[in-house]
Amino acid sequence: MLARRMSLFDSSGTAAARAAANAAADAGMEIVDLTAGEIWSDLAPTIRDGAIEAIRQGLNRYTDTIGLMELREALARKVSVETGQLWRADELAVTNGAKQALFNVAMTLINPGDQVIIPAPYWTTFPAQVQIAGGTPVHIDTRGNGYVPRIDDIQRVITPMTRAIVVNTPANPSGAVYDAETLSGIAQLAIERDLWIIFDECYGPFTHDGHRHHPVVSLAPEVRARTVIVNAFSKSLALTGWRIGYLAAPKELISAVKALQSHTTSNPNVVAQHAVLHHLREGDGAFEARLKGQLTAARQAGLTALSELQRVPIPEAQGGFYFYLDLSGLLRPTLANGRARTADDIVAALLAQAGVAGVSGTAFGDPMGLRLSYGIPPEQLEPGLERVVSVLNAWNRRNRRSNQKRGA
Ligand code: PMP
Repeated sequence: MLARRMSLFDSSGTAAARAAANAAADAGMEIVDLTAGEIWSDLAPTIRDGAIEAIRQGLNRYTDTIGLMELREALARKVSVETGQLWRADELAVTNGAKQALFNVAMTLINPGDQVIIPAPYWTTFPAQVQIAGGTPVHIDTRGNGYVPRIDDIQRVITPMTRAIVVNTPANPSGAVYDAETLSGIAQLAIERDLWIIFDECYGPFTHDGHRHHPVVSLAPEVRARTVIVNAFSKSLALTGWRIGYLAAPKELISAVKALQSHTTSNPNVVAQHAVLHHLREGDGAFEARLKGQLTAARQAGLTALSELQRVPIPEAQGGFYFYLDLSGLLRPTLANGRARTADDIVAALLAQAGVAGVSGTAFGDPMGLRLSYGIPPEQLEPGLERVVSVLNAWNRRNRRSNQKRGA
């Protein structure tokens, strides 16, 4: 009944995890939901005021397809400050969140049969969009290297069909922040092998413990002609529902994005655009600082709770707002019936035994991972993580007992 492309992907794995948590809550369970890809927070006052003013002025018409010129100019200034280079409005397009920015990139850059390198674990939407565009995702396993790809590993999978590499730093789900050396290596490869870099920096403001976010174009200005920067206010201002993102790229690509967006969604919501414009003009950084402080405190409290884990390494959580646990120490050995266990089994146990919802790494191409968000209210986070620790440690004790029984 459906078009063949619909068999290429499932609906988002993170959305499915959220739905399972909601279903358990509807069934009467008291759930701590650690699946969220967003930060629990009030609305930024500048966003509220900008939106109210836009409504008061009665704004109701289409804007330019890829956003108000004043907003694109303000975004060009923002990207200029962040990269230390001059960017102009014709290199910027405003989109309905980073997700549409990435979709635009996939549809305007990828030809059927092209390969796109996506380090794993990856945010689920990256490969799905490549496939929708007719391309083939090529994954490289980063688990043995702190979730950052090795340059050699990237080099090994490049073929004449390779069109682009996705670089998401700080990374969802792993929280890895790519170091300058790796980013410079990727830039050099992109130039040598004629690749595009799709640079998703949605979690850029959230780096911890001395880690720094580096825009790849700042480290290697010569890569700018083949780089698309993707960003949004969804995470940085806790504004997921307002759907304002953007991309910064060579102006030929922006023209193509404009043509595509004119046939798909037209402009992002006019009120939301004015709200973000008002924030960019009037914001003094206090809201962002408060959000960052909230996440820093949550991260610290969470790491303390997780320090009780046995056989599961404490996550580094270098960036973003996720704890990404490596469960491989718990998931081997396989079951007696020969079935290999995955993080799905542990996620199901967490929900059933402890009422805690997390996202299994299988959604991110890593059957051994577990993503727990700490962007939730503090009074829920600590008890939630304590329950996680107790389920995982009990799992470990059970493993040990069954190994002893088997004489292993
Ligand atoms: N990129 C990454 C890495 C993300 O984690 C997300 C949201 N989970 C997005 C893009 C999409 O963000 P938005 O809500 O702005 O579309």
